[in-house]
Order: sequence, then structure tokens, then C-alpha cells
Amino acid sequence: MNKRSLTSTVTLANGVKMPKIGLGVFKVENEEELLTAVNAAIENGYRSIDTASIYGNEEWVGKAIRQSGLNREKLFITSKVWNADQGYEKTLQAFNTSLEKMGMEYLDLYLIHWPVEGKYADTWRALEELYKEGRIKAIGVSNFQVHHLDKLLKTAEIKPMINQIELHPKLSQKELRCYAGQHDIKIEAWAPLMQGGLFENEILNGLAKKHGKSVAQIVLRWHLQNEIIIIPKSTKAYRIKENADLFGFELSDEDMNLIDSLNEDLRVGPDPDHFDF
Ligand code: NAD
Repeated sequence: MNKRSLTSTVTLANGVKMPKIGLGVFKVENEEELLTAVNAAIENGYRSIDTASIYGNEEWVGKAIRQSGLNREKLFITSKVWNADQGYEKTLQAFNTSLEKMGMEYLDLYLIHWPVEGKYADTWRALEELYKEGRIKAIGVSNFQVHHLDKLLKTAEIKPMINQIELHPKLSQKELRCYAGQHDIKIEAWAPLMQGGLFENEILNGLAKKHGKSVAQIVLRWHLQNEIIIIPKSTKAYRIKENADLFGFELSDEDMNLIDSLNEDLRVGPDPDHFDF
């Protein structure tokens, strides 16, 4: 496999380099499964892992990383503050708990998981403080719409470096991507494979055939060519490998336009303007 994709990075607004491809571990709720998946990812060259306190697996992520024997600085670890822990004091505590669970001294990226109204400005102040103390290398948000970002930027001292959002060919998020570009906020896609909802699509299967690649690789390559950071989830070693083998081919403008034409503004996850958890 061409490992170039796994060593390529995006430079965030503060100069921190973040891998363009990482492993997502949402819903990996079994220790053995998680240890095997992270181990397979690291063996195949992944250096970035995306978890969250609500996933309940931070402890195992820390364990898997220690077992890998890699130096902590070689890795890029993301976690997120959960909704019930938002607010200034509670976020500081939640961050300490996450670090303790992972057995780490710092995180590479810490995100506000969802834009909880009335709280996210205070949560952000806590992230800014932790960032200034050097306990997080980069800070960002997740599931923020343009109006959430607009509001946050009015009180923020430091702009979010990342917005992690649901994004795939059926939800291409053009407006948010454009806004983020104007503010030097990098976009990271969650559900980059629409949680498995794209594999029957005819156009994507046609492109897969044309390039001699899998549908997953076509979709992930579309993200990369759009300068979107991806964290596809799989616990199977062969898929983990496949999902990072994205650099031996290129989609043409015509291919890209064809994939763009699939947009239906269709979500598989909750709507950030109407969630109640
Ligand atoms: P995803 O789009 O990565 O899809 C994962 C599904 O696709 C799994 O069921 C897997 O079996 C299947 N799959 C993966 N690779 C495949 C391949 N090559 N061929 C066939 N099937 C394949 O969805 P996701 O897990 O929701 O998103 C990725 C990551 O994003 C998560 O693990 C998590 O870390 C993060 N996430 C964040 C939020 C948030 O609110 N910030 C929400 C959901 C997920």
C-alpha cells in the first residue's frame, strides 16, 4: 500500500499538523475489538485516532496506544467534551477525566461535541484556557452550523481550528465548507462513508469500476480532493487498510462533479438545530 496518504497532513490555523486520515472508533464498545482495530490501524500506518468521552472507550484507546510502543508525539489523538459536561468548570473537569482515562498528559485535539445552546460559549472558554496551558495542541467544535460559529466567533478569543461535521456525498455541506474556508477553520467529516449507506449507489459503483477501486475508496478520495479530513470507522483490518489506500489514483473534475450531484442534504445522524441529548 502507498502509505503517503497516512503521512499527509493538513496545517491548522495555529500551525499544528493534523493527519488527513484517521480512525474513528464510535460504537466500538468491546475492549478486544477496540484494541485489535487500533492495533491494525497503527500497524498500517495510521497515526490519528478519533474518540469521545461518550463513546466509553477512551481508556482502551489509551491502552492500545501504549501497547503500540509508539512515542506519544508520533500520534494525533482527538476527544470531545460531552453535552452533559458543558459549561466552564464542568468542561475543565471532563477534560481531566478524559486525560486520566487515556493515561495521557495532553490531547492533540479536543472538540465541543455538540452546540448546546446557552453553554457552548462557556465551554469554549475552558477549551481556550486548556489550550493556553499547553494541555491541548488544537481546539475545535463539532456539529456547529454557520449560525453557531457566527455566535461563537463574537466572544471567542481563539477561533476553532476544526469543525467536525456529518459530511458525505449525500450531505455535501457546501455552505459550511465555504464559511469555514473564509475563517481558516478546517472541516473534518464524520460518517464520511454515510455509515455504510452509499455502497449500493449506482454512480459510485460505476466510478469504482472505472478506477478499479472500492466504493469506499472512491468516496474517501472525493473527500481528500475536497481538502476534507476523514476518520472512517472500521474494526476490520482489511478495511482499515483499504480506507487509507487512497493515493494511487485521482478522480477527474467530471468524476468529482458526478459525486457532487448526489447531494440531497440527507443526514444519517441528528440535526444540530434539533437535538435533545
Ligand atoms: P462511517 O461513515 O465511517 O461508516 C462506518 C461504517 O462503514 C461501519 O459500519 C463500517 O463497517 C463500514 N465500513 C467502513 N469501511 C468500509 C469499507 N472499506 N467497505 C465497506 N464498509 C466499510 O461512520 P461513523 O463511524 O459514524 O463515522 C466515522 C467516525 O466519525 C466515528 O467512528 C467517530 O469517530 C466520528 N463521529 C463523530 C460524530 C460527532 O458527532 N462528532 C458522530 C458520529 C461519528
